Amino acid sequence: MNLSRSLTAIAASISLTAGFAPAQDKAVHPKIQEMMKQVSEVRIKAVLQKLESFGTRHTMSNADDPVHGVGAARTWILNEMKSYSPKLEVRFEKFRVKKQGLRIFKDVDLYNVIAYLPGKKMPETVVVVSAHYDSLNLGTRPAGAAAGPGTEAGAPGNTTANMTLADFEKNAELPAPGVCDDGSGTAAVMELARVMSQYEFDKTLAFYVFAGEEQGLIGSGLQAAKASKEGQAIEAVLNNDIIGTDVSGNGRMGNGSVSVYSDETMDSVSQQLSRYVREIGERYLPSMKINTVFMGDRLGRGGDQTPFQWEGFAAVRVSTPNEMYANQHHATDTLANMSVPYTARVAQVNLAVAASLALGPKPPAVMPAPPASGSGRRPTPMIARGGGYDAVLRWRAAGPEEGIKGYAIVMRATTSPYWEQEVYVGKVNTYTLKDVSIDDAKFGVKAIGVNGTESLVTSYAFPPRQKVEIETIQ
Ligand SMILES: [Zn+2]
Repeated sequence: MNLSRSLTAIAASISLTAGFAPAQDKAVHPKIQEMMKQVSEVRIKAVLQKLESFGTRHTMSNADDPVHGVGAARTWILNEMKSYSPKLEVRFEKFRVKKQGLRIFKDVDLYNVIAYLPGKKMPETVVVVSAHYDSLNLGTRPAGAAAGPGTEAGAPGNTTANMTLADFEKNAELPAPGVCDDGSGTAAVMELARVMSQYEFDKTLAFYVFAGEEQGLIGSGLQAAKASKEGQAIEAVLNNDIIGTDVSGNGRMGNGSVSVYSDETMDSVSQQLSRYVREIGERYLPSMKINTVFMGDRLGRGGDQTPFQWEGFAAVRVSTPNEMYANQHHATDTLANMSVPYTARVAQVNLAVAASLALGPKPPAVMPAPPASGSGRRPTPMIARGGGYDAVLRWRAAGPEEGIKGYAIVMRATTSPYWEQEVYVGKVNTYTLKDVSIDDAKFGVKAIGVNGTESLVTSYAFPPRQKVEIETIQ
């Protein structure tokens, strides 16, 4: 109530102030719409057919056969991506992984396939779309065991809890078509690489397909750690895993929604990214409902977004809310058992979001510029009680300013999942919200590009107060 009353007051005061533009339009970029139209079900289906034809893409499978197994699959993906455009820089990222645990039962050379479309204005800033191309067959379920998701959180028939080393070795060569998990994500990433490499973007677009997801997120884990060590500026990771079914095993169905998992930390960068996916995804594909889920993944399960979060990057998992457990990690995860039109729709959501980010400004910085020498105090975001009862927000441009039209402040109640209020404040670096309390609402700021695109929101997220040890007299 306080917030909305205050905002009415702000709106009134803004309308009396000369020089402010009206709240910016929710712009739809024609070039992005044009790209979305080019996402082809026919092309996605052809990729899925090919991926299925390798029999298995298990990371530990025989890599020497020219037409079967993980080696043939990754070589095909590499060459296919190379064929899309000379502007696309495609290569293997190879990691030599030591034998460890049961799932990595021998030393293995792991290959992620990565492709870069270098940005024209901010090439150092990277927007990633990813998936995993490896597959898994967990073998025959014990008699009577129900089908369930592949972890301890699911039904017993699809867990690795009772498996022996011999089981793991045998499973590596079982048929594992993996068309939904995660051929669907791989085909979407490849289709985006094909379509988007015909265009130019301000930021660099990266298309990653990982190996080793089924061995414990090892391909993405190594890739994320490398990015962090090299100081790569990854702005966002859209990880697609299981985007190929729109009918659940219990009969629930619908191709009009997709889930976006982030994490459970209020106002984390990954939650901001998930809000952005919802806002932009539904703007460009209004027939799709984006479910933001403030969890790291489906309960007790995992995906390749998590290692990027460990390194501090904004990363989300895009996944169907209608999984078919009976086919997961089994020989029945085939093209016949999935929905290509659904994968194409989710690919379009990814395209709208990745293109908006890559054509848009960098999110503003809300932390003060680091001092020459550390003051010893932890920095806090630049938000303050101006004259006592006003909200005074400051920010800095994090990238080139010429592409920025202005900034918008966003606000919401602390209990609200989505930004509720938006005030376009023009091309300034500070703004006072008169009579707005900073004590009972969340605040953020985003940059609006001259082309109508918008940046991710940077939240004024305050670090939690830390425990202080109090000395007492013994
Ligand atoms: Zn998967």
